Amino acid sequence: MSTESPSPQALAPPAADRPDAARVGASAFAATPAAAWSESATRPQPDFQGFDLGSMPRAALRASFLERDLPAFRAEQLFRGLHVRMIRQLDELPELPLAVRKALDGALPLPRLRVVQAPISALDGARKLVLETRSKEVIEAVLMPMPGGWTTLCLSSQVGCKMGCDFCATARLPMRRNLSAGEIVEQVAVVCRLRAEEGHARGGVSGGVAGPLAARPQNLVFMGMGEPLDNFDAVCDALDILTDPKGYGFSPRRITVSTVGLAKRIAGLHARHPHVHLAWSLTATTDATRERLMPVNRGVPIAKMVEALQALPRDPQRKLTFEYALLAGVNDGDDDADRLAAMAIEVGAHINAIPFNVWPGAPYERPSRARVAAFAARVADAGAGISLRESRGQDIGAACGQLAGQAIAAPGAG
Ligand code: SF4
Repeated sequence: MSTESPSPQALAPPAADRPDAARVGASAFAATPAAAWSESATRPQPDFQGFDLGSMPRAALRASFLERDLPAFRAEQLFRGLHVRMIRQLDELPELPLAVRKALDGALPLPRLRVVQAPISALDGARKLVLETRSKEVIEAVLMPMPGGWTTLCLSSQVGCKMGCDFCATARLPMRRNLSAGEIVEQVAVVCRLRAEEGHARGGVSGGVAGPLAARPQNLVFMGMGEPLDNFDAVCDALDILTDPKGYGFSPRRITVSTVGLAKRIAGLHARHPHVHLAWSLTATTDATRERLMPVNRGVPIAKMVEALQALPRDPQRKLTFEYALLAGVNDGDDDADRLAAMAIEVGAHINAIPFNVWPGAPYERPSRARVAAFAARVADAGAGISLRESRGQDIGAACGQLAGQAIAAPGAG
């Protein structure tokens, strides 16, 4: 199966799909006159048009219902339907009166994502989910089996990316748009439903709740397509939904948000989600090299990001990692290792070093095994914590830096 490239029309998604339609919080509702409405069929229907209910954290959803004279428990029913039962259509919520379901219809386009392909790596069992939005754009999420039978799901936050990292296939795509919180969360729902259908559900999740929630992955990482902090509000709303004990119920300590270094958003993320782990995609230890690899460094030099990280309150349980893609002859020298170790010790970060995953047309190469081992040993000898990571799903274009928003060709396809 192949996937069409996103069409120009895809740039203008339907109003209910647009991230800017996801107005949340009390101010978003103040301008909307509250309809005098009860559950009586004789009253006019409440109007939710222009709101993206699937992107709303529970508090905002309750507020929107109350604003329309709908009881808050109906909002709770809807939230549970969306984020615990992971319904595909409103008809799956018969407990909501028909009139309410009709009123919700336009503000709740379901399903948001269609699975185009879900190839599994023959090398390591990683699975790439190629997903199509309602506006026909393609994004990708990657489910990775981890030691001990755990799974980690890598999420996308944007369609494309404008950060322009030179070693990243996603950077070759045009930046289309931010994903809405609902589209981010729906990537998790797709995986939960898929795993539940395949019999991966475990018991004892969230008070014994069965169904797709019991098949959720253990860890989430925001390291797929896009820069999460460039889509700050939607990512924070998605985190609200994902960590809500009445929703997906993820511990924030099972979630890592990665950034190339948008320093001015670090404090804001910490204010809203103080316990999620943070990963800085560092990849170079001098401004000169980093500017060449990652244009963001021209506006946010290394020292500025270090300052933002050091300003965070100490929290021994919140992990801070430096992600370091090893590029042959570019950033894998002994001097690089020494500077990297010193930075990690100074900031209190653990280093995840990832030998570069080559993709078609990539201008870089992966260092030799011997060079990778020598680099890691030198960092460790200097006293810094370092893990060597092999990205998963290299044979299906699912590894770090390989996500290109495309389905892989079916065998025999031209
Ligand atoms: S590495 Fe991340 S931030 Fe950089 S271009 Fe790729 S997706 Fe964007």
